Amino acid sequence: MATNGGCVCRKIRYSISGGPLRVTICHCSWCQRRTGSAFGVEVVFEKNQIQFQSDPPSVYRHTSDLSGRWLDQHFCSTCGSNIGLTLEAVSSIQSISVGSLDDQNWPELAGLERRHVFVRSARQWSEIPNDVEQYEEHFRK
Ligand SMILES: [Zn+2]
Ligand SMILES: [Zn+2]
Repeated sequence: MATNGGCVCRKIRYSISGGPLRVTICHCSWCQRRTGSAFGVEVVFEKNQIQFQSDPPSVYRHTSDLSGRWLDQHFCSTCGSNIGLTLEAVSSIQSISVGSLDDQNWPELAGLERRHVFVRSARQWSEIPNDVEQYEEHFRK
């Protein structure tokens, strides 16, 4: 069953078919800045699961100083909402920022694998449960 989402001002709207592959919670300092929060929560899909009913989001390209590879941050140029990311490292996937989903209790998110990455730079007060998958940096090199 499809689920929908988009930005605060509703200029960007998308529809997703099928369930996500996983959820990645990233505590890197770049995600802290780009989200204005303590970590980024990215719901990961195959690119072909996501259809935009609006114009596609604007893109800001960031090159990682660690890997030298690019990450594209997708956002609404009107209201500034984060929509998600695409990565040079894994070109088949696109992530959606969890907060942009319309359904806060989307059943597909329950029980899904949650992977915490870059926990080395997590804010001191970010509590990460002991029983979740976690990595000091990327989960893959
Ligand atoms: Zn917007
Ligand atoms: Zn990050």
